[in-house]
Amino acid sequence: MMWNLPRLKEFDARAHLDTAFQNGEVTEAEKDFLVDLYKQYEEGLGRPSAAMEATGQRAELYTLLHDAYSLVQDGRRLRRLRADIKNLADYCPYCGFAPISDLDHHLQRGRYKLLSIFALNLVPCCHPCNTGKRKSPSDNASEHQLHTYLESVAKFDFLRANVVLDPESGGLDVSFSIEHQDGMDDELFSRLKEHLVEFDLRKKYAKQVNIHLSEHEFSFSMAYEGGSEGLKRYLRGTANGHLKNFGVNDWRTALFRGLAVCDSFCDGGFVKALGMISSSEIIAPPVAAI
Ligand SMILES: [Zn+2]
Repeated sequence: MMWNLPRLKEFDARAHLDTAFQNGEVTEAEKDFLVDLYKQYEEGLGRPSAAMEATGQRAELYTLLHDAYSLVQDGRRLRRLRADIKNLADYCPYCGFAPISDLDHHLQRGRYKLLSIFALNLVPCCHPCNTGKRKSPSDNASEHQLHTYLESVAKFDFLRANVVLDPESGGLDVSFSIEHQDGMDDELFSRLKEHLVEFDLRKKYAKQVNIHLSEHEFSFSMAYEGGSEGLKRYLRGTANGHLKNFGVNDWRTALFRGLAVCDSFCDGGFVKALGMISSSEIIAPPVAAI
């Protein structure tokens, strides 16, 4: 599901600290402090703040926690935590299409060292999204990343795909945007727009749209046998299917809704538009070795 994931159920943050630090490197009092910091993180919905950096502890504590993340790797002591978090999603919640390969630190590990192995600060995602995001949160609150577990945006229906056929070439242009909805505060609106920028989604979606639509070419032709109304019905039906499977603000839901209201696409323009996609997607066959 894009944007939001259900959080890990019934995890024991204290037990994770005990598993990571078995030889007294971190004192019981420090573990109490960390568990309290985690509680504050959750109450503050994972928003970046000076409190989350939690300066003022002994210097070694930051290094110990930062380096303990290596235990959250395959084959190491906290591998179960990694596996459980990766199991929360099939696809990256940041872009909505790429398979899970990484764990992202919602609040970046380089800066928020004490949160390095905190389960709610670890989000399963794809490698490009993980490496593409900011290395430190913006100083501007209206650019803060949404929290995948702690801030639900599902009550809004905000992702739009505006579909235009170029009148000259007949080529398809799809641009994704965020709609400001009733009851949505300005800060959330800005943060949603920033999400498209931070994860470079406009560019990533341009490619996904082409791949996705070229797979539907035959179905579109079949539906068009019922005329433009037939095609619109098919597009709306597919949008509803995506809505059920992937959620309201999924890029595929938005795409099919956008296609269904593009008259020039549904009046037969899709043939040329998809033809241009298919021919640009053809990959040259490998040259036989001599
Ligand atoms: Zn991604």
